[in-house]
Amino acid sequence: AHLDRIAAVDGRINAFLHVDSEGALAAAREVDAQRAAGAQLGPLAGVPVAVKDVLTTKGVPTTVGSKILEGWRPPYDSTIVQRLRDAGTVMLGKTNMDEFAMGSSTEYSAYGPTRNPWDTDRIPGGSGGGSAAALAAYEAPLAIGSDTGGSIRQPGAVTGTVGAKPTYGGTSRYGLVAFSSSLDTPGPCARTVLDAALLHEAIGGHDPRDSTSIAAPMPDVVAAAKLGATGDLTGVRLGIVSEFAGEGAEPGVMAAFHEAVDTLTKLGAEIVEVSCPHFKYALPAYYLIAPSECSSNLARFDGVRFGLRVGDDGNRSLEEVMSLTREAGFGPEVKRRIMIGTYALSSGYYDAYYGQAQKVRTLITRDFTAAFEQVDALISPTTPFVAFPLGARTSDPYQMYLADLFTIPTNLYGGPGISVPCGLADGLPVGLQVMAPTMADDRMYRVAAALE
Ligand code: GLN
Repeated sequence: AHLDRIAAVDGRINAFLHVDSEGALAAAREVDAQRAAGAQLGPLAGVPVAVKDVLTTKGVPTTVGSKILEGWRPPYDSTIVQRLRDAGTVMLGKTNMDEFAMGSSTEYSAYGPTRNPWDTDRIPGGSGGGSAAALAAYEAPLAIGSDTGGSIRQPGAVTGTVGAKPTYGGTSRYGLVAFSSSLDTPGPCARTVLDAALLHEAIGGHDPRDSTSIAAPMPDVVAAAKLGATGDLTGVRLGIVSEFAGEGAEPGVMAAFHEAVDTLTKLGAEIVEVSCPHFKYALPAYYLIAPSECSSNLARFDGVRFGLRVGDDGNRSLEEVMSLTREAGFGPEVKRRIMIGTYALSSGYYDAYYGQAQKVRTLITRDFTAAFEQVDALISPTTPFVAFPLGARTSDPYQMYLADLFTIPTNLYGGPGISVPCGLADGLPVGLQVMAPTMADDRMYRVAAALE
């Protein structure tokens, strides 16, 4: 049914870069055979899932939304995809994204933009717009995203779906094509909080193949989502960040947020205001740290190891071939990030830019630590604006970067964050974000499920 739905609507939505019909049907038949043989099946057995094209899939094309990896079929599965297979889920295909996960609208994909099912002249968010749009258009019931600065939560918010960024290190980066390694976090996307928790449970937990993976038991996110669904938040203290009040957010977004805050109060939560004085430096710090790490990570795309190779006619030097390949294979936003990152890391500027940004990161972490001494979780709008028209922010990178104003602090800290639908503004979905302490992912699921 989902393959039929994709065939019917994806021509208009462009959520998928690759549909693996054969693989999906084979996986579904395998689950049927296991069921017929009386095997004990997990809660997600037979459930279709769409996977952001940033995760390697054995033998199935993985482009990261870039021309430089066009035609590349990885020889191995990422840990997330391996765990999806172990859970018996059925992978439908790979979803569209901003090239190398850099962007907030999916317009920087080398394969054309994804469109928002609520209004196909508007963006579905980014970088994981394909996964979010696939859910909103009922092309898939579950999807995987990755969140470096907001790429799971912001697309969730603008498509009226749920997106959760787990604690950094709570989900494995093995086989996740690297953008900014100290921030990249794969996680679940779904239409309900409980579905997201079930998917989180299936993909999360320690992985010895990722050196930053946390070797501790995962919080019980499914139990927390079920507890939240009872609608009782008595005794839960939620903080509103004073520095976020009205800052750059559309009035309709703030109105929906405040209505949701009233609902949370009625459910028994205590709302207090907390100050996080360094959050205003999060965006500039992120736009030094993320490009710096990207400029190093993307050095591996050299025209030798993977995908595209340009100008290798037997007469050109290795350096010329690398240069021609990177010129042809990377899009403008990726080139901009590599340039900024290379500059920020260069000797003479390192201390002034990258070093300074790292200090800001520490101060933001201290803000979170102090806030969580007063409250169980923080809440905010997920994103300052609803889905904007295609093309509205592509001419000014800074306008695009602002989409992640409220999501980036959590990435710099490393804690979990979830976006849950909280109403409409101008007929378009608004998301509420819940941020929790590191390895307290269960708390955000409880609050989000109560609001749903
Ligand atoms: N929009 C942010 C960026 O462009 C976040 C991207 C992400 O989370 N992958 O870097």
